[in-house]
Parts: sequence; C-alpha cells; structure tokens
Amino acid sequence: MTAYAVFNAGSSSLKFQLFEPGANGALSPFVRGKLEGLGSEPQFIARDGSGKMLGERTWSASDGLDHEQGTMYVLEWAREHLGGRRLAAIGHRVVHGGRDFSGPALIDDAVLAKLEAYVPLAPLHQPHNLKPIRIVRRHRPDLKQVASFDTGFHQTQPEIAQLFALPYDYAERGVRRYGFHGLSYAYVASVLGRCAPGLETGKAIVAHLGSGASLCAMVNGRSVSSTMGFSALDGLPMGTRCGSLDPAVVFYLMRVDKLDAAAVEKLLYSKSGLLGVSGLSNDMRALREAAAGGHERARLAIDLFVYRICREMGALTAVMGGLDGIVFTAGIGENDPATRAEVLRGMEWAGLKIDEGANRAGGPLLTLAGGPQAWVIPTDEELMIARETAAMLAAR
Ligand code: ADP
Repeated sequence: MTAYAVFNAGSSSLKFQLFEPGANGALSPFVRGKLEGLGSEPQFIARDGSGKMLGERTWSASDGLDHEQGTMYVLEWAREHLGGRRLAAIGHRVVHGGRDFSGPALIDDAVLAKLEAYVPLAPLHQPHNLKPIRIVRRHRPDLKQVASFDTGFHQTQPEIAQLFALPYDYAERGVRRYGFHGLSYAYVASVLGRCAPGLETGKAIVAHLGSGASLCAMVNGRSVSSTMGFSALDGLPMGTRCGSLDPAVVFYLMRVDKLDAAAVEKLLYSKSGLLGVSGLSNDMRALREAAAGGHERARLAIDLFVYRICREMGALTAVMGGLDGIVFTAGIGENDPATRAEVLRGMEWAGLKIDEGANRAGGPLLTLAGGPQAWVIPTDEELMIARETAAMLAAR
C-alpha cells in the first residue's frame, strides 16, 4: 500500500503528517507529528490517527540538532512508522509559487531554481519551506517531492484584482497581489458542494480567520479577489500582523522613529494586529476573556478585527456583484461563535439573518432561511497538500 508524507516547515519547526488512501480512495492521516524548537531545544512528538502517542524525544541545546539532522530524523522516523506501506512522495507546503504555478509542481532542478527566485517575494517563509526540500533531495534523490503553493488558488483572479497602481514595470517584475491561504481556500472550495450546497456555483466569501487571517471572494468555487496581496501582511488585522496600512506610515516610522527596514518589518509582522492594539495577547480566547472582564483595549482589538472583516466583506460583495453566502474557517472562524456573530450582525445589510442558537452550537449552517447563508467548514490544508501530491503522481 502507498503512503504520502506532508511536510510544513517553518523557521524553527517541521510539522508532518502521513496519509494513506482508504477503501473509497479518499486520503486519511495515520500519523501526525511535529519537530519544534530547532535552533534551541528541539522536541519531537508524533501521534497516530486516533491521538495515541507513537513517539516523543527531546534534545538539549548542546546536542546542536540542526535543520538538516532534524529533517532527516523526521524522514527516517516516518519511514520506520509506515507499517509496511511504501512512501510514494513528500508533499511540501510552499508559500510562494509566483505567477508560474497555479497548481502543484513536481520538484526538479528547474522548479527548485524558480522557487528560489521567489525568496525576495516571501523572505520570511520561502527559505524555510525550501530548506527541507533541498535536504531530502541531497539525502534521498530517488524520493519524489511535490510543492503545493499558498498562492496557486488565486491565479484565477483577473489581472485587475492582482494589480497595484504602481508604474506597470513593477507588475512585470512580480510586484503584484498574489493572495495567500490558497491551500485552505482550495480545500474549502473542494467541499463547498457537499458542506454548503449551492455555494459551489454561487458568490461566496470564505473567511480564513486564524493567527493569520484573510478573506477570499469565490465565484463558482474560483478565487476572484482576496484581501492578502503581495505578502501575507496585507488585508485584515491578524494575531500580530497589522493588515492593510497606509504606506505613508512606513515613511513616518523610518523618518521620525529612525527604524530601518528590519525594524519596520518586525513591528508590522510581530508586534501589531490584535497583540499591538490590545497590548495584551494575540490569542482570541485570551482577548475574549479579558474583554468580558472589562479590558477596554482587548475589546477595541476585537472590534477593529470585526470592523475590518465587515468592511472587506462589503468590498468583496461589490467585486462579485452580490453575495450568496459566507464560510467561516480556521481557529477563530471554526471555534469562536462570538466573532462569527459580530461579523454576521455587521453583514445583516446584505440580507442575511443569523440563527443565534445554531451559531452558538457551531453550525454548520449559521443563518435562517431567506437571504445569503453562512456556514462553518473546518479547513484541512495538509489534506489538500496530500491530495495534490497523490494527484500529481497519478498524472505521471
Ligand atoms: P494558525 O494555524 O495560523 O496558528 P489557527 O487557525 O489555529 O492559527 O487559529 C488560532 C486562533 O484561533 C487564535 O487566535 C486562537 O485564540 C483562536 N481560537 C482557537 N480556539 C478558539 C476558541 N474556542 N474561541 C476563540 N478563539 C479560538
């Protein structure tokens, strides 16, 4: 039997899952694990599909486990836990596929060179995503590897949705809106017909509200516009990212506060958003609790988050020329009825009527009959990568 591995690499972590095809051909995970703390005190943990612990290990800082050793530890551990299955390929999450890739890519030297060229477009993520690909290629050149992109799903957007009003040669050099969270949106689009019947052929706004947050306008299940742009910094305020910002604020920070590019980057990516406004936390659960206890800036941070979601939903509704439904997904979208209720009340002008009881109970349908619908659909980016990897191999 065949198995597929999915790797999702960050700056100091490598999350992985192992998938197998079931009787009906649908893929399901039989191992989930992660190696965290690379560069300090790495910890490895892995569980089976039912949550039972399969492996656990820690290293001290003096062990000096680097990315190369860590990646190979995960790969070798995975190979020892295939239970007789054959590892057909690794699918990797890669944040940027530029304009070249609207779907997954089988890794070879030419593809890898193109992906390297996108590092300046996503300097905080792309190098970390590519590192394990290169390491595995060095040690196991025979093992097929596939890249799945966060940008791919948005390549269906019309040029006007991707263009900045800069001199046009910047657009030709790649300075344009790409949109991210594409694997999450692709997964949601793939289940719309089953989970939100009718929306797969309608005008939908999908709200991926997690630590990172964005909205995608979908017509007939295809992306026509999104709130993230050139980077994953644009659009909605997020846990620690500011979202859309008048670029003149950056000049101010550089001229008046004398911040250099790295300091501005740190401020906008890591100290802003819900954390920056509240001065308390980037975690919605903590903010809800504090706001309930009277913490004014926790309330303000939440209100700003909701205000900006509704504002962008209005803009995306205009872009689509109407709205048939809203889908909530990711950590906040799936688990926080209060945020969903506040957003839906803010969108009543579009004709939707919230079903307060259904919303408190977690849906999946959150609205009463008549008017646009709203749904909760749990996302699954890893499953989407596994599907793309399996499909890529099947097509060869
Ligand atoms: P990521 O995968 O990008 O780290 P998630 O999709 O897990 O992010 O979302 C994390 C966010 O979801 C955090 O703000 C967290 O507080 C929020 N969240 C998770 N569960 C709940 C809950 N029960 N109520 C409110 N917010 C929640």
